[in-house]
Amino acid sequence: MDWFWWVFIFFMAGGFAKVADTARTALRTRHERKMERLESARHERQALEAAQKPPEPVCGCTHHLAKHDKKGKCHERVEIPVAWDADHKPVQYEAGQCTCQQYVGPQPLSQIYAEDLTDLA
Ligand SMILES: [Zn+2]
Ligand SMILES: [Zn+2]
Repeated sequence: MDWFWWVFIFFMAGGFAKVADTARTALRTRHERKMERLESARHERQALEAAQKPPEPVCGCTHHLAKHDKKGKCHERVEIPVAWDADHKPVQYEAGQCTCQQYVGPQPLSQIYAEDLTDLA
């Protein structure tokens, strides 16, 4: 083979390597940009989900809706002070039941739907 071809091949190989390198860099940059875009989209979605999430169904008595029966009475066990010191600070507690008679927190969507269906029937 002529020496000319060797030089030609050498430059072609070098040129290809350069082109491949440039393409790789471009691809990587694009990939990174895409990842950044995906990441920001994910954050936006999370913020949106947080905004649309219904509030925790927690009653005014600080207990969860699940602790209340169908009539709204709270069944959570609580500590009831039975003795106080001179500063009116409770010093002795007794196990008791929450005195809440009616759940007054936000209603979860599923429950509202369930009640609508009951009314129709
Ligand atoms: Zn309660
Ligand atoms: Zn309650």
